[in-house]
Amino acid sequence: MSQYNLFGRKPLQYADISEISCTACGWCAKFCPMGCIQQRSDGFYTVDEPQCIGCGKCKKNCFWDAIEMIRRTHEEASR
Ligand code: SF4
Ligand code: SF4
Repeated sequence: MSQYNLFGRKPLQYADISEISCTACGWCAKFCPMGCIQQRSDGFYTVDEPQCIGCGKCKKNCFWDAIEMIRRTHEEASR
């Protein structure tokens, strides 16, 4: 899969789900406009990072604060 999302560049941040805090409820996935939060075979959820636009909707809607937004530098985002 391409490292670029549909906007043609990497966003300055992306979501990362903590395997320790996540309860595998799947609630965050209902808010993702990119549909890039997917359930793994073990039941937990993960973000398809190249498709994430960094909007933060998943983080705002996670009751367990299991999602962290990871910032990229401008250099990383333009690669
Ligand atoms: S809403 Fe939070 S706890 Fe639920 S699946 Fe998403 S990251 Fe995990
Ligand atoms: S930050 Fe936005 S695009 Fe990225 S996984 Fe969360 S809801 Fe989806």
